[in-house]
Amino acid sequence: MNRIPAAGAWIYLALGLGVTVALGLTGADSINALYTFAALQVAVVMFAARRLFALPTSMVLSTSLIGAFFVGSELVASFAGDTTAGKLIASVLVLSGEALLVVGLLVLVRKRRALSVSGVVGDGLILALGTWNVTWVLLVQPMLERTSEPTFVALIDAAYQPLASVIVFLLAVYLLNGSRVTGAMWLVSSAVVLLLVGDLLYALIGAGYVPESATVGTYVIYTAAYFSLGAAFLHPEIDQDSAVNLSRVHDRLQTRLLVTTSALVGPIVVLAISRPQGTADLVVRAVSAAVLAIAVMFRVQDLVRQNVRTQQELLDRARIDELTGLPARPAVVELLHSLALEQWRPDREPTVLLIDVDRFKNINDSLGHDAGDEVLQVIAGRIRQVVPPESTVARLSGDEFLVIDPTTRTMSGAGPLAERIQTVFREPVGVSQGDLFVTASIGVASVHSFNTGPDKVLRDADTAMYRAKDAGRNCVAFFDNSMHERIAHRLAVETALYRALDRRELRLFHQPILDLESGEISGFEALIRWEQADGTIVSPAEFIPIAEDTGTIVPIGAWALLEALTQLRTWVRAGVCSQNATMSVNVSPRQLTDPNLPSIIAEAISRSGVRPDQLWVEITESLMIADPERALYDLQRIRNLGVRIALDDFGTGYSSLSLLQRFPLQRLKIDRSFVRGIAEGAGDRALVRTIVAMGQSLDLDLVAEGVETLAQLRVLQELGCAKAQGYLISRPVPADSMESTVAGLEGPGAIPLLRASRQDDRV
Ligand code: C2E
Ligand code: MG
Ligand code: MG
Repeated sequence: MNRIPAAGAWIYLALGLGVTVALGLTGADSINALYTFAALQVAVVMFAARRLFALPTSMVLSTSLIGAFFVGSELVASFAGDTTAGKLIASVLVLSGEALLVVGLLVLVRKRRALSVSGVVGDGLILALGTWNVTWVLLVQPMLERTSEPTFVALIDAAYQPLASVIVFLLAVYLLNGSRVTGAMWLVSSAVVLLLVGDLLYALIGAGYVPESATVGTYVIYTAAYFSLGAAFLHPEIDQDSAVNLSRVHDRLQTRLLVTTSALVGPIVVLAISRPQGTADLVVRAVSAAVLAIAVMFRVQDLVRQNVRTQQELLDRARIDELTGLPARPAVVELLHSLALEQWRPDREPTVLLIDVDRFKNINDSLGHDAGDEVLQVIAGRIRQVVPPESTVARLSGDEFLVIDPTTRTMSGAGPLAERIQTVFREPVGVSQGDLFVTASIGVASVHSFNTGPDKVLRDADTAMYRAKDAGRNCVAFFDNSMHERIAHRLAVETALYRALDRRELRLFHQPILDLESGEISGFEALIRWEQADGTIVSPAEFIPIAEDTGTIVPIGAWALLEALTQLRTWVRAGVCSQNATMSVNVSPRQLTDPNLPSIIAEAISRSGVRPDQLWVEITESLMIADPERALYDLQRIRNLGVRIALDDFGTGYSSLSLLQRFPLQRLKIDRSFVRGIAEGAGDRALVRTIVAMGQSLDLDLVAEGVETLAQLRVLQELGCAKAQGYLISRPVPADSMESTVAGLEGPGAIPLLRASRQDDRV
C-alpha cells in the first residue's frame, strides 16, 4: 500500500484554504462554484484514499456522499426553492448528508479501541444534551414559530438540530477518549466543527439574528470544512487506531471537566434569560432540561462509584502482596491490632515469627530478580503448608515473611513452629537456573495484650531476627528486652572503633595454613582482633561490618596489611617458617573500591621487604557480584603488583562459573559450611569434589576452611584439596605464640594422618 507523507495532507489543506479565501474575497458567484467543487473533491479523495489505505467501504461511501447530498440540496433549492416540494427535497437531502456524517463519525469512533475509557460516553452525552438545550431555545423554537411551511416540512427542517447534537456527541467521544489525537483526527474534527459552525451561522441568518449578507460566510466556512475533510483522508494516520495512553486519559480529564461544565452553563444561562413561548416550548424545555439533569446525575453517580472502586482496588493492592498472594504489611498491622485488643484471652499469648531469607540480595544480584521472585514464591508456598490452619502467613517486605500464630500460650510455645519453618529451607529451591539452597533467620516475639501496638511487636520480632543473623544466620532467636541494648551497643562500638587504631587496641592473630601434600605450614592468614581497654575482645564478625559502614575499615585495613607483612618478614628471618611462606590478608569491598589501595599495598610490600607473591589478598564473592566490571578493574590493578588473589568463603555467594573465569583469581577458599558435613554427608562431599575439580581445571590453588576433625581432613586429602586451615590444625593465635604453634605442628605426632601419609611417601 502506498502511503503519502502527512505533510502532503497539510499542503493539500493549505492549497484548498488558499483558494477558498482568495475566491471568498472576490464574490458570491465564484464561491458557489467553489463550494460545489469542494464538496465533490471529498468524494474523489475518498476513492483515492481507499486505494492508499484500504479504508472501510462504509466510511468511503458515507463520506463521499456527504458532499453530494449537500450540493444536491443546494441545487434543488436554487431551482425549485420556492415550492413546498423543492423545500422538502432540499431539507431531506441536507438531513441525509447530516445522517451520513453521523455514520462516518461512528465508523471513526469505533476504530478507536479506547472507547472503553469510562465516562467518555457520558461526557459526550451531556455535551450533546447541552447543545440541544441551547439550540432549541435559540434556533429550533423560533424557527418553528415563524415558519410558514406545512408542519411536516418544518419538522424535517427542525430535525436537523437534534442530529447536530448527535454529531457533537460523537465528536466529543472521538476526541476526548484518551488516546493520542493524530493529525488526521485534527483534520476530521476541524471539518466537522466547521460544518457545524456553518450550519449555525446559516440557522442564525434564518432566525434573523444575523443579516442575510453573511450567507457568503457560510459558504466559505463549508468550503474550508470540505477541504479539511479531503485533507484528512489524505493523511496517513486516518486508518490507524490509536491505543489508550493512560497518562493522557488523566490529562484529558481536565479538558473533559471543562467541556462538560460549559455544556451545563450554556443551557442554564439561556434557559434563565429567555421566556418560554407557549405550552409546546415549555414542555420541550422542561423535558430537555430534565434529561440533561438526569444525565448529569448518572454521570456524577458513575464518577463517585468509580472513585470508590479505585480506592478499594488501591486498598486491596496494598493489603495483598501481588507476588505471593499473601497478606501484606497493612493487613498484618490490622490483624495484630485485633489480636491484641479483641481476641485477648488470659490463657493465650499470640506470637509472631519474622522470617528473613539469608543473603537474599546475593540471589537477586547474581541470578536476577526473576530468580529472586521465584524463590520467594516457592518459599511462601512452603511456609503456608507447614503452619497450623489458625495462623496467618504474610509477606512484610522484600525477603521478609511473617507468621502470626494466635494459639500459643507463651513465646517459647512458638519454638516447634519455628523449627518446622526451618525445615522448609532444607529442600533446595528450583529456579530456572538450577537448584538453590537458601536459609532463613527467624525472630520470634509475642503480642502482648497491653501496652504494645503492632509496631512494637514487629520491631521486637525484627530485633530478634537480627540477633539470629548475628548468630551466624540460619537460626531462631526469641526476643527479650536486653536485645534493644544491642542497638545502643552498636552505637558505642562505632564510636570506640574510631579511636581503636590510635589507642593501639587492634591486634592481628594468625592462623596457619597447612599444605596437605608436604605437611608443612605454607602460610598464615591474618585475622584481626580488637582488644578494648577493659580487656574484652571483640570479634571481627562484629566490628568489621561496622568499620565497613563507617569507612574506618580503610585506615584499619592499611594498618593490617603493613602489620601482617612485617610479621611475616620477622618470622621468615627468625626461621619460624620457610622463605616462601605466604601471608593472607582479608580485604573488604569498601577497601577495594578505594583508589589508593594499590599504592597502600605496594607500600606495605616495600616497607616490609617481602616479595609481592608472598601476599594473598582475600576477597569475597559479594564484591564480584555487586559491580563485576568495577571489581574486575580494581582487582586487575592489584594483580598487576604481582600480588595473588584468593576468593574467600567460596560457595556462599552464588557467583557464577563465568564470573570465576573472568576474574584474576589464583585461589579458592572452600567455605567452612561445606567442610562441616564433608565427613558424614555424601551431599557435601559431592559438592566439595565438584569445587575441587572445578578449581583444578581453572588452575586455582584450593584451601579448605574450618577443618575441625581428622575425618574432614582425611576426606579433603582424598578429594585432592591442596591446603587446609582450621581449628584442627590451629586456632588463630597471637604472633608471639606462632613459633611454638608451628613447632608443635611440624613436630612428631602433630597430625597423625599427615604423618602417616608422609611416612607412606618415604617408604
Ligand atoms: P574469614 O576470612 O573467612 O576467616 C576465617 C574465619 O573462620 C575466622 O574467623 C577464623 O577464626 C574462623 N575459623 C578458622 N578455623 C575455623 C574452624 O575450624 N572452625 C570455625 N568454626 N571457625 C574457624 P574470625 O577471625 O572471627 O574472622 C571472621 C571474618 O572477619 C573473616 O572471615 C574475615 O572475613 C573478617 N576479617 C578478619 N580479619 C580481617 C581484616 O583484617 N580485614 C578484613 N577486611 N576482614 C577481616
Ligand atoms: Mg579470610
Ligand atoms: Mg572464609
